[in-house]
Amino acid sequence: MTYDQYIAEIQSLSLMQRGQGAFGEYRGYPLYCIFSGRVQAKAVTVEVSVEGKRQTKFMRELNRSIKGLGSAAFKTSDGSVIQIQVKAADSFAVPFRQVMDRLAETAVSYGVTPPSVCPLCHRSGCDGWALLKGGYRPVHKACLEQVRDSVRASAQRNMAEGSYLTGILGGLAGGLVATIPCLLTILLLERIYALLVWLIPMGAAFGYQKCNGKRSRAAGPILIVLSIVSMFLMEYVFFVVQWSAAYGWGVGEALLTTLPFMLDPTFWIAVVQSSVTELLFLALGIAVSWKTLTSTAADEVSGVDACMETYQPRVPENAGFEDRQKEGISDGA
Ligand SMILES: [Zn+2]
Repeated sequence: MTYDQYIAEIQSLSLMQRGQGAFGEYRGYPLYCIFSGRVQAKAVTVEVSVEGKRQTKFMRELNRSIKGLGSAAFKTSDGSVIQIQVKAADSFAVPFRQVMDRLAETAVSYGVTPPSVCPLCHRSGCDGWALLKGGYRPVHKACLEQVRDSVRASAQRNMAEGSYLTGILGGLAGGLVATIPCLLTILLLERIYALLVWLIPMGAAFGYQKCNGKRSRAAGPILIVLSIVSMFLMEYVFFVVQWSAAYGWGVGEALLTTLPFMLDPTFWIAVVQSSVTELLFLALGIAVSWKTLTSTAADEVSGVDACMETYQPRVPENAGFEDRQKEGISDGA
């Protein structure tokens, strides 16, 4: 099936198209569809939200009933979203309706129903649906707007009041705290567990955010620098501790003796040379926590805006539903 044909059929099913997804409901079940290809696809992924216990027996029965049309599995651990690969070689609308009809019929005998509770306030009486927590779910528009407003307000506050300075101090503190496990392993086991170095960027990011660091595009590079600085400070502390032990110095004496080293480039060259492995793991840590390090306040706003985009009001009970089904069937035939 081609993408163009799919789009035409999505419209005949009264599904709302937003970006890569098509959103709507069938027999009361909110769902969204994703075309699994660019121009051509043999299957469409349909994710249906349900309410009721996660039951293996129900899933087995559902798979039996849709045999030849597709296959289903729970997408979420609580069983609230069912992911179905619907075979769509020539058409999508026809197998889609068959699969959804069988799902609705199978669901009845297992006490599985369309979802009714808003995941934001945990109350019923929803007036629409939106893509939330990995599924297309019933929601109150007011709840969505409340979330959006608070995310926007916090982003605006961060942009207005967030400070690079407090963020950097917090980030450095967090990065240094994250060096503690590393330092302890080195001191206690006299072996370098370089693996733990990857914790440092997470610590820096945590401290930066906790201390109201400004979350703009500059935050990512700042955190990378902070992580590297934290690691080298750790190496420095390591040297100080080693020398204190070797020469029987106290902490004050050791700091006074070694501080001038920090101004000496050859000292730092030696440090870099001796910490190649740690640097590699630090790079790994940065790669692992890249999303946290670089996510900006603006990204959070666009995330919640994307969720708002998928909102559509619910057609009132008993009105419209029958009509739209008839319309859909005549379109498909
Ligand atoms: Zn709500």
